[in-house]
Amino acid sequence: MSQATRCRTMPGMTEHILPTAALRRWVEQLWLAAGCSADEARLTAEHLVGANLAGHDSHGVGMAPRYVQSWQAGELQLNQHVKVLSDNGSMLSLDAQRGMGQSMAYEAMNLAIERARQHGVCVMGLRHAHHIGRIGHWAEQAVAAGLISVHFTNALSKPVVAPFRGIEARYVTNPFTVGIPVPGREPVVLDYATSAIAMGKVRVAFNSGKKVPGDMLMDLQGNYTDDPAALFPADGGPGGALVPFAQHKGYALAMVCEMLGAALTGGDTTRPAHLTAKYGIWNNMLALVFDPARLSDQQLFGSEVNAFVDWVQSAKLRDGDEPILVPGDPERASRRARAERLPMDAGTLVEMDAAAATVSKVSGVAVPPLSSLLI
Ligand code: NAD
Repeated sequence: MSQATRCRTMPGMTEHILPTAALRRWVEQLWLAAGCSADEARLTAEHLVGANLAGHDSHGVGMAPRYVQSWQAGELQLNQHVKVLSDNGSMLSLDAQRGMGQSMAYEAMNLAIERARQHGVCVMGLRHAHHIGRIGHWAEQAVAAGLISVHFTNALSKPVVAPFRGIEARYVTNPFTVGIPVPGREPVVLDYATSAIAMGKVRVAFNSGKKVPGDMLMDLQGNYTDDPAALFPADGGPGGALVPFAQHKGYALAMVCEMLGAALTGGDTTRPAHLTAKYGIWNNMLALVFDPARLSDQQLFGSEVNAFVDWVQSAKLRDGDEPILVPGDPERASRRARAERLPMDAGTLVEMDAAAATVSKVSGVAVPPLSSLLI
């Protein structure tokens, strides 16, 4: 949605409920109608619904309307395949050719996994992908193959994050991600934006008529505000900015994501010369994928991690209702809770119905409004 046309909602707006499996089929149907191959439509639907299942609505199906706009503007290209730019065995440079991020990152990770199995390690650079969504999904692809992966990702769209000590937005929410399979326990998946709050979570709060915590956003004058509208000015003019997480620490990590994820991979860093897309959100990513079994005995690794986690979780709780967790635990809990039904705010539902109407009109293939699936 453009800033000006984004649905403006009132506080306390209704939250709707959708059946998870039917929502996944609907997203697949939407992209099939748009012209995606069966694989691309399926991968896109699985990834977007997977983000909702993991509890990250910011990167879930609510991104589809923006993807539709990007496709309509000729920015997102359907049915691309990653192009190998250079291949030195354990080092791969790939170009996603502006393709659907969900299928491009899947292909890129498959190549990196294959090489890491062969050589023990693969350093993979992926440039020019359309939005690759929840990066933890790609770490989980490596984890499922028994591999560790570390991801430095830059996002390229309208800048929304101010550098530490600045008040004007200069870059996007550059996520940092690590996936670790651990023998004898569930994998560890660290995966977050380097801003104090992910931009998509501000979008969801805005669409739901909710506030955000008061120290994560600044207005145009650099004052903290809890109103997500600060980032969606009604006149479509410049908005405020998100702040980095943990002050200089999040800012410094975001800088590294920009340099390794984009400048090094041959992708575009966030600066005016590269801000030419109207709706497209681009991602560039450096992934380090490696086989832990070639570094150490996996049983010893697993027992050491388990002993460490036991020790950490033995700490006295600050709040008896809130246990000490391990990265990856909240997403697992959310998957259990959301397996059958997913919530969606009213503003996002309006955008989804509009996206279905656009795709139906352009393609001539009828896609029912998502609201027809409400429970
Ligand atoms: P977040 O703040 O919800 O943090 C999530 C991470 O913290 C997870 O690893 C989770 O397991 C861990 N975690 C949460 N609570 C925990 C606890 N109590 N103890 C231990 N670990 C805990 O994440 P976010 O910053 O809102 O990011 C959400 C998603 O947005 C991520 O999946 C990220 O990849 C994605 N993202 C994508 C882009 C992009 O351009 N594609 C940009 C920014 C963010």
